[in-house]
Amino acid sequence: MSLPHPSSISASTPWPATAHWGPYGLEVGGVPVVELAAEFGTPLLVLDVEHLRRRCRELTGAFPRVYFAAKALTSRRLLRFVNAEGLRVLAASGGELDACLRAGLPPRHLALHGNSKSDTEIEQAVAAGVGLLVCDHLEEIARVEAAARRLARRQDVLVRVVPEVAGGAHPSLVTGTAASKFGVPIETGAAAAAAVAVAESSALRFRGLHAHIGSQILEPEPFLAAIDRLVAFAGLLARRDGVTTEILDIGGGFGITYVDEDPLDLSSSGRAMSRRLRAAAAREGIPVPCLAVEPGRAVVGGAGLTLYRVEAVKTAADGRRIAAVDGGMSDNPRPMLYGARHTLAPAARATPGDAPATTVVGRHCESGDVIAEGVPLGTDLAGQVLAVAATGAYCYTLASNYNRTPRPAVVAVRDGSAGLWLRRETHDDLDRLEVPVASGVAV
Ligand SMILES: *Cc1c(COP(=O)(O)O)cnc(C)c1O
Repeated sequence: MSLPHPSSISASTPWPATAHWGPYGLEVGGVPVVELAAEFGTPLLVLDVEHLRRRCRELTGAFPRVYFAAKALTSRRLLRFVNAEGLRVLAASGGELDACLRAGLPPRHLALHGNSKSDTEIEQAVAAGVGLLVCDHLEEIARVEAAARRLARRQDVLVRVVPEVAGGAHPSLVTGTAASKFGVPIETGAAAAAAVAVAESSALRFRGLHAHIGSQILEPEPFLAAIDRLVAFAGLLARRDGVTTEILDIGGGFGITYVDEDPLDLSSSGRAMSRRLRAAAAREGIPVPCLAVEPGRAVVGGAGLTLYRVEAVKTAADGRRIAAVDGGMSDNPRPMLYGARHTLAPAARATPGDAPATTVVGRHCESGDVIAEGVPLGTDLAGQVLAVAATGAYCYTLASNYNRTPRPAVVAVRDGSAGLWLRRETHDDLDRLEVPVASGVAV
């Protein structure tokens, strides 16, 4: 492995790039986080803009084409930020696509994927003029073609294939195996039939192949294996069907540090993947396709941290000390969904934490609503602000209003100042879907 670039954030710390522990406790972006908690309230998602910027630059330096997977975190400010840094954006639904269009992103920088798109979503994407539509199966290709004809457009398409390469930190995060619900299998000939169907349509343009093998992958090997597999298939398509693969999109899944994991090094992995792509293309005798990636977690995961306030401290019957905070599974369901672990520290102390060990639980009516166990949090915990690291991805977007809990605010910090990116949800926001109750009407 070569040495990481000095600016790369590959050291195994779960805290964002500018985080450090000073006299006012944890500071991010030059702002003590206890001040953020006081000004914006808790729970609060804090984003380190410098961390985001460095991650975007590492990615654009390492890969020819980068899509940010908007499902990891979606806000207008964030979408504009990553796009200004040279990333395109991958939407997984009509809702995410709408957010990108409302953010003013150029449609040609957008891609829409998904294994269960509605006709409305397909129509929305084609009408908007998205740069790429990732088709998941043969029947969908006919629907995209029909939409393109109706709208008198020619739509660029990638075909999502199943590379039969597994990767990912949890069974729910593994998406590239034969049993996957995503994409068309290569083995059965279905993928070739799909590619040929696109290539033969005058309303569509076949641009290449797409795969996504899983998430929170910490080693480059599964990506290299997927590249071999896809390029071999691209070779077959070229020789047998005369179909050219211009873009090879190997999806996202680059892993980050939550506790003590060694993150996937983006620069060296990017170099290794490009080398592998060139070698495989030469072997197949095809032009080298443009390598595209779609990271979500690797862009925003480590940039974010969540601040909570401790509302209650008590000793359980088994002697464990328990601290309950003002959020939990509603703003971060990852521990419950995936058994995920996060690093946690008291925000006001000059050092990350000391004894006694404490179990930190959420406020929700579920015993599994546990944020971290056995953390040295020191004494005098009541009313303290706790910081949970690496919550930038798949926390806010997986958030719910369980127990009618409003979603937290999202604040970005940089160079000593803080700006609100998403305001805190209110009880009025939660009420906005209610319809007026007409007197005397029972149902
Ligand atoms: C979820 C997803 C991504 C992003 O995954 P990360 O693990 O956040 O990098 C990229 N591409 C596709 C098709 C996805 O489903």
